[in-house]
Amino acid sequence: MRKTFLPYTMHDISDADAEEIMHVLKQGWLTTGPKIEEFENAIKDFIGCKFAVAVSSATAGLDIAVQVLDLPAGSEIITTPFTFVASSNCALYNNCTPVFADIDGKTYNIDPDKIEEKITDKTKAILPVHYAGQPCDMEAIKKIAREHNLAVIEDAAHAIGAEYKGRKIGTIGDLTVFSFHAAKNIVTGEGGIVTTDSEELYKKLLLLRSHGIDKSTLQRYGAAAGYEYDMKILARNYRITDIQCAIGLTQLRRFDEFLARRNEIVKIYNRELSQMKEIAIPFVSDNVKHAWHIYTMLLNGINRDSFFKEMKRQNIGVNVHYIPVYRHSYYRERFGIKPEEFPVTEGVFKRIVTLPLFPKMTDEDVNDVIDAAKETVEKLRD
Ligand SMILES: *Cc1c(COP(=O)(O)O)cnc(C)c1O
Repeated sequence: MRKTFLPYTMHDISDADAEEIMHVLKQGWLTTGPKIEEFENAIKDFIGCKFAVAVSSATAGLDIAVQVLDLPAGSEIITTPFTFVASSNCALYNNCTPVFADIDGKTYNIDPDKIEEKITDKTKAILPVHYAGQPCDMEAIKKIAREHNLAVIEDAAHAIGAEYKGRKIGTIGDLTVFSFHAAKNIVTGEGGIVTTDSEELYKKLLLLRSHGIDKSTLQRYGAAAGYEYDMKILARNYRITDIQCAIGLTQLRRFDEFLARRNEIVKIYNRELSQMKEIAIPFVSDNVKHAWHIYTMLLNGINRDSFFKEMKRQNIGVNVHYIPVYRHSYYRERFGIKPEEFPVTEGVFKRIVTLPLFPKMTDEDVNDVIDAAKETVEKLRD
């Protein structure tokens, strides 16, 4: 049995990266400085979108992505229940109602047919989440959005570098939000970015990131600058720091290396785990480039919670992504949604397990996970 605990995710910052990050600590700007735009430009080049606004977290990004649309109170935003709570909380922050649509049983992404069933005259936006880093059926989602005049906000917290039919995620919806939280594929500690091709939305996002004020600190710096600035709208402080952006820049340069290693590990997992009839390996659509943020598999005829406990006992950091949002007490008490309304989500939730997956995993780590999974299946098989 493995002696030390293997977490389900872990960032990778090299000594060379750390040295570069140190430079930013020693020059003038810790926040509101030039690294912010440098990082935004690097992300724009990487994704191929027109505009990008880096923020303090994807949660902040989702909040301003909804805010920027100026929706009337009571508007409905259709999203998936099989996600992290931030995906639907952003509707609530803005006096909108999240409306859940069930998922597709293969990709675990929101099912476009179920979206259509949930549309009312209050519906104003669709908020798909690219689960595990696999893009949603964006063609179908965009078609529904066009027909009903809805905005599309993509939660791409898992999906930096992912592609749908040859198009990078971040260039498809009206607004796309990425996360650089420590657990994600590219990290800044805490952090996120909103991308858009609309200049109008971009200009307003800049205001929404920083108190609704029309001039940045950098624009007001230096001997020639005046003191004037104007607060145009009510907003919060959702800024990211130069320190975080310096980390993001070094991370982004290593994207290909990171994804290649994720793909290698996924291949080994798929090969080894598909040999057991009790395990169903993840499905991948043929028109996507998967970002492999997490590796999730379904158990057949084996109790998920028993599997989870036994793997943890063997020092393997398994996880569950996700407890459906409507099952959390806040949502239960406020909306009283019945789990039976989401048969596909419920079915997947009861059987799903996340295995450790991160670029720094050694071949030995990967083998430890496989050995533990095989042993656990043997043990729990009746
Ligand atoms: C991590 C995550 C978020 C929130 O990202 P933060 O940067 O931590 O705010 C939102 N949605 C999904 C699907 C996530 O996994």
